[in-house]
Amino acid sequence: MAAVTADHKLAGRVSSRLHRAVILLGPPGAGKGTQAQRIAQRYRLPHLSTGDMLRDHIQRGTELGRKAKPVMERGELVPDEIVLGMVEDRISRPDCDNGFVFDGFPRTLAQAEDLERICRQHKFGYTIVLHMVVDPDLLMRRLTGRRICKTGGHIYNIYDRPPKTAGICDEDGSELMHRPDDTEPVILGRLGAYERETKPLVDYYKGQGLLIAVDAMADADAVTASIAKTLDRAEAPK
Ligand code: ADP
Repeated sequence: MAAVTADHKLAGRVSSRLHRAVILLGPPGAGKGTQAQRIAQRYRLPHLSTGDMLRDHIQRGTELGRKAKPVMERGELVPDEIVLGMVEDRISRPDCDNGFVFDGFPRTLAQAEDLERICRQHKFGYTIVLHMVVDPDLLMRRLTGRRICKTGGHIYNIYDRPPKTAGICDEDGSELMHRPDDTEPVILGRLGAYERETKPLVDYYKGQGLLIAVDAMADADAVTASIAKTLDRAEAPK
């Protein structure tokens, strides 16, 4: 079945709000962006990608963007104080009052602690942490093959999930782009940063009993279906 059909079917279901922070935890290339987009659509929550927010600052030439650009080009993490200010700003908008789906945040312990404070402020139920478990050997292929729609952010992979016409988005006909940090040397830097700074969050959330493992090796539709099952259970009245 075409990815698009299944995706639309899932997204089409009318769903009540989760009133939760949902976070996707996993290495670059685990499919966080693809799944976050779909979950956000299904549960009518905003999809917050700190990577997209930073790239937007770079494109607009803001001071924050000027600081973040060289760091991102090296595949390192942008300093916490920059990311935290940007996240606080975004979360203070009313569309976040009922919850949000985070993709790429938190990435350090300090960020995780800040998120806890934000969730308390919003009086959310426990945070849902989806741990995208994937074989490290697969990540390089996923990242070097990734192409992203310039308008809608739809994600393809030239090896595993190619668009019908090369370089063009099936959904809206926009041009597809290759992210400048999706090149082998930068990817190695990003994977290293994940191991050092983000992976410790797996134990942190496991210790709090919040970690939900997701088999992110399956095809994208199967991953979406498994996440949806988990979230529907979380949504059901206790
Ligand atoms: P991926 O998860 O595939 O690496 P992202 O778009 O989430 O892609 O992130 C791209 C880059 O943006 C990261 O390599 C990092 O430099 C920066 N970045 C994104 N989110 C954060 C964050 N929460 N903290 C620090 N840096 C971040």
